[in-house]
Amino acid sequence: MSFRDILDAWPRERLEALYGEVTPARVEAALERRDRRIEDLAALLSPVARPYLEPMAHEAQRLTRWHFGRTIGMYAPIYISNLCAADCVYCGFAVRSGSRERRVTLKPDEIRRECAALAAKGFDNVLLLTGEAPRAVKPRHIADAVAIAREYFSGVSVEIYALDETDYRLLCDHGLEGVTLYMETFDRETYRQVHLLGQKANYDYRLDALERAGRAGVRRLGMGVLLGLFNWRIDVLWLALHARHLQKHCWQSALSVSFPRLRHVPERFTVRDLVRDADLVQIVLALRLFLPEAGFNLSTREAPVFRDRLIPLGITAMSAESSTRPGGYATRGEETLEQFEIEDGRVTEEVAAAIRAAGYDPVWKDFDHALTGLG
Ligand code: SF4
Repeated sequence: MSFRDILDAWPRERLEALYGEVTPARVEAALERRDRRIEDLAALLSPVARPYLEPMAHEAQRLTRWHFGRTIGMYAPIYISNLCAADCVYCGFAVRSGSRERRVTLKPDEIRRECAALAAKGFDNVLLLTGEAPRAVKPRHIADAVAIAREYFSGVSVEIYALDETDYRLLCDHGLEGVTLYMETFDRETYRQVHLLGQKANYDYRLDALERAGRAGVRRLGMGVLLGLFNWRIDVLWLALHARHLQKHCWQSALSVSFPRLRHVPERFTVRDLVRDADLVQIVLALRLFLPEAGFNLSTREAPVFRDRLIPLGITAMSAESSTRPGGYATRGEETLEQFEIEDGRVTEEVAAAIRAAGYDPVWKDFDHALTGLG
């Protein structure tokens, strides 16, 4: 069964009906249950569950420590290109965003210098990112970048445009370990309204991308919805159904979830469904109870105080000192177009110190073990 069939079986109206049935007794039952069903997740995500955030936090912490210990994996992004032929209205890289800053694709020696700068800070896991410009930044070019990054890091993942299975395999042959790919929103109509040009406008092709990556041998699959695009209570339920589907069909791969929240957006776009801090806390807690073995990543999109508060509540990996522009660490300074402004501008050592202060160990090496719960 493809995930499209599952989505068809769980239309918005059916999920709304689940929320309509939630009572305090249902929330309490969802808290007690061991193998939680989608009905339980809806109870935990519902407004009725708001007074239960404390016991949810308790259980989320217990489950996270059981599966991951007191560790937080450290990673950093490296943008290798900001060229993009797609037009996603919420994104600073979009071809029609009106941005006039410089667009570049890093050359191999520049990628090396960016890698060396991050390795010198202690990172051993990186995420390579591009826009969607498959003619200018071909899978072959990305594969070469993966191979270069592997000279410096033991864990290399990509967050790039969706690929065919053959191209994911090409990247794996060059040392790729992970693919992060956000569906942005599972709501087809909203998806159509915000993705105006490029291959990304093809909802179905993107929907199946992580499964293609898993079949190609990618060991770490990262997923998420762009919080703020659509009703988060509905989108997070779809995300959770997708996560369970991937855990079943790509069982050789470890799954992780990210929580990208729209904050700084281009002028032409307005965030439709604002996700407040308390909403995001509830999302993290409820998803931890539903997906106890999944890694949870938190990026520098979020502010320092808020990131620190989330450390003991289910997060297992954090980025630090991130630049969202190509060449931002060592080669191009601030001359190139950035994708979005970050909120947490602390240097790596400050983030590591905050993790230690919360009673956790920042993990630079063996991140994979932390992520998969094996170490
Ligand atoms: S979200 Fe990705 S594909 Fe869309 S405009 Fe931004 S960089 Fe391009």
